[in-house]
Amino acid sequence: MTRRRRLYEGKAKILFEGPEPGTIVQYFKDDATAFNNQKKGTITGKGVINNRISEYLMMRLAEIGIPTHFIRRLNMREQLVREVEIIPLEVVVRNVAAGSLATRFGIAEGTALPRSVVEFYYKNDGLNDPMVSEEHITAFGWASPQDIDDIMALALRVNDFLVGLFLGIGIKLIDFKIEFGRLYEEDMMRIVLADEISPDSCRLWDAKTNEKMDKDRFRRDMGKVEEAYQEVARRLGILLEGGPGDVRGPTAVQ
Ligand code: 5GP
Repeated sequence: MTRRRRLYEGKAKILFEGPEPGTIVQYFKDDATAFNNQKKGTITGKGVINNRISEYLMMRLAEIGIPTHFIRRLNMREQLVREVEIIPLEVVVRNVAAGSLATRFGIAEGTALPRSVVEFYYKNDGLNDPMVSEEHITAFGWASPQDIDDIMALALRVNDFLVGLFLGIGIKLIDFKIEFGRLYEEDMMRIVLADEISPDSCRLWDAKTNEKMDKDRFRRDMGKVEEAYQEVARRLGILLEGGPGDVRGPTAVQ
């Protein structure tokens, strides 16, 4: 058994030092949290499924020229990614009113938005990820105006592609959250898609019935959470034979 240095433990993932310099291993946990950690639980097999779904979506996005941190999947729960400097923003793209937007503006959930809307939130659990404007982002130095332009353009391309991909398998992409990082190569810096894309970070509704197939089932105690994640994977054509299975987690060194 190999021992690896644990770099960071988040709510749904653990990051370990990768085998080569400039690489990181992302380990996907079954832990689920909502409402900034006030609700905690486990979704059995979620880590295995999200590892697969995120691998699949990152690979499809790379094929259309979206730069990502993803290198390759290592095993059931782990993927190798490039080490990037995470930009401390949660970038949310919305197509249909739901969640905090529906609440904030008093719009019924399920109402189509006049156009896709991109929002920025400052990644800070202690502050409950407050929504921020481009003014805040540039004034506090989290990203430059050029970075913001790049992030907006990438986020909208990701949205356009994923809307079509999901619609093709009978799923509406209501909204999603993505993160970006800075990848330094020699004297160049590129902004790349980082973190994960999975039913933890997307709202996915069945196109015919509007049934929720994402983490809202956990957040709102709707039941059939595992089944929903499995169904998304099944429709993407990546459900593992005989169920999600499992592997023994890594041994961490503090
Ligand atoms: P809302 O602002 O409506 O709560 O969330 C908008 C979208 O971003 C939803 O798809 C939600 O899953 C995602 N999202 C927002 N904040 C987070 C977060 O902290 N973690 C994850 N995994 N997804 C988030």
